[in-house]
Amino acid sequence: MKHNFGAGPCILPQEVFKQAAQAVLDFNDGLSILEISHRTTEFEAVVAEAEKLVKELLNVPAGYSVLFLQGGASLQFAMVPMNLLGEGQTASYLDTGVWASKAIKEAKMLGNVNVIASSKESNYTYIPKEYAVPSDSAYLHFTSNNTIYGTEYFEFPETAVPLVCDMSSDIMSRVFDVSKFGLIYAGAQKNIGPAGLTIVIVKDELLGKTGNKIPSMLDYKQHIANGSMYNTPPVFSIYVALLNLRWLRSKGGVAEIEKENIAKAAALYAEIDRNPLFKGTCAVEDRSRMNITFVMENPELEKPFLKLAEEHGIVGIKGHRSVGGFRASMYNALSITSVHALIEVMQIFAEKNK
Ligand code: PMP
Repeated sequence: MKHNFGAGPCILPQEVFKQAAQAVLDFNDGLSILEISHRTTEFEAVVAEAEKLVKELLNVPAGYSVLFLQGGASLQFAMVPMNLLGEGQTASYLDTGVWASKAIKEAKMLGNVNVIASSKESNYTYIPKEYAVPSDSAYLHFTSNNTIYGTEYFEFPETAVPLVCDMSSDIMSRVFDVSKFGLIYAGAQKNIGPAGLTIVIVKDELLGKTGNKIPSMLDYKQHIANGSMYNTPPVFSIYVALLNLRWLRSKGGVAEIEKENIAKAAALYAEIDRNPLFKGTCAVEDRSRMNITFVMENPELEKPFLKLAEEHGIVGIKGHRSVGGFRASMYNALSITSVHALIEVMQIFAEKNK
């Protein structure tokens, strides 16, 4: 058995893999999910149920649309300003890592951008908390969980301007209030489903106000008007996301999985803080529950530790090249058993290297 701590695409529940495999062979009346038209009533039902489940699991209020798009979270870096940033307006951004910086870079090509706070000077080891949001900002953009560095916002920015959030790596992992947001987007390949799908949740009243000319495929209003079927959607990715969302509901929904995520993260951070060979890389109050980053006091021991972990079936813990060390991604489908397996290897290694 492998314990998959990969950062994404990542672990999904085994039962989702089994159901997805079955649907490849026979989704409906002898036809594979890979060969049916997206215009069939069967697939329309899949999209309708997936949308209903996103709304139910996140308690999305009336007045918001849920979209199933392609292009990854990275395309949203450009779609957000195209749709929400009018000429002469300025958007505010918080810079908490590579993904936030990429969002800033794209927005700068399309309009005025004001980076109101950044933790770049410390290699993004914390979430900036002191900043003022200009009240005339078109929106404030931030990244709720910084997948590479292992930081997460536990208090969202308080502001009267519309909040836009890249939630790629922590959506569906914890309860939050959608009504505080103007737009939320997330690449699916962590807690939603497989790669190839991006979810956008947008407050309808914010759209169509900029006067920008927007190509149809990049226009949220076009996708809303067409029920996420302006063109051929990623049929299989949406179906597997539906299976995963059903699994999440059967577990008791986001509130229940959040409790598990808190317990999993607490267990691993406790070992990092207790074990003399390891240390965490981020400000304690901003430590992510999804991506846990740590290094070794003696960097020479990192290679042998990685080897021992691999021998114990632990995969995907090598840190991102910009941080080094290790990153244990602990998305919804990763069980506490896998977390204990990692902790055990850390203890065995410490015992051997006294
Ligand atoms: N934002 C965050 C927070 C991410 O973690 C990632 C990728 N892991 C991205 C954006 C980029 O997503 P994509 O590859 O779907 O464009």
